[in-house]
Amino acid sequence: MNIIVVGCGRLGSQLAYRLCKAGHNVAVVDTNPLAFNNLPPDFSGRLHEGDAMGQDVLLRAGIEQTHALAAVTNSDPLNAVVGHIARSVYHVPHVVARNYDPHFRPIFEAFGLQTVSSTSWGAQRIEELISGGDIRAVFSAGNGEVEIYEVDIPEAWNGHPIKELIPSEECILVALSRAGRAFLPASEFALMTGDVLVVGATFEGITALRKQLQGEVR
Ligand code: AMP
Repeated sequence: MNIIVVGCGRLGSQLAYRLCKAGHNVAVVDTNPLAFNNLPPDFSGRLHEGDAMGQDVLLRAGIEQTHALAAVTNSDPLNAVVGHIARSVYHVPHVVARNYDPHFRPIFEAFGLQTVSSTSWGAQRIEELISGGDIRAVFSAGNGEVEIYEVDIPEAWNGHPIKELIPSEECILVALSRAGRAFLPASEFALMTGDVLVVGATFEGITALRKQLQGEVR
């Protein structure tokens, strides 16, 4: 896909790099040429210096042929306007805008833009991590018949293999996150205090796992 990323700061540079690594044809736009230094040296997309409000830079970046545009500068009004122009003037099929300050959310809503609100999402996620208890639902499939849960591993389970903790039915291992990095462990893999186990489970499965966590460890 041809994709334009507007804003090459902390968010845009990561996004552009990921899209590039995924095989997309990426063009990045920023007013500040130094912002392009945020990109790793092996970034192979195109760089366009200029103010996204002046539409010539968007034309140079190929907005007339692009399949998607991400407006991710540090200005909410600018992201909303650039996103709106991309959709309504250039008919870009996929437009996503970054919203930082929740006070500006009504502008994005008025334009009907798909928005990622990093501050609201971050606050919600941190609240979940601080006060969500040992088991937190992070994704619901269907009508919630199956959910994905994060499970904090307590000290009592340190050194025990994952298969001892996970009930045999209605609960499957998805991933393990250790010191902030996630991977796909084998069921024999030994747990460590502070690990976060990710499982997919029905209500019965997660109830059994909760009992297991609270019960006596063999
Ligand atoms: P960050 O908040 O670190 O993700 O950085 C936001 C980026 O958006 C910075 O690199 C800014 O230079 C860039 N930016 C701000 N205004 C504009 C604009 N009008 N056109 C293009 N890029 C912009």
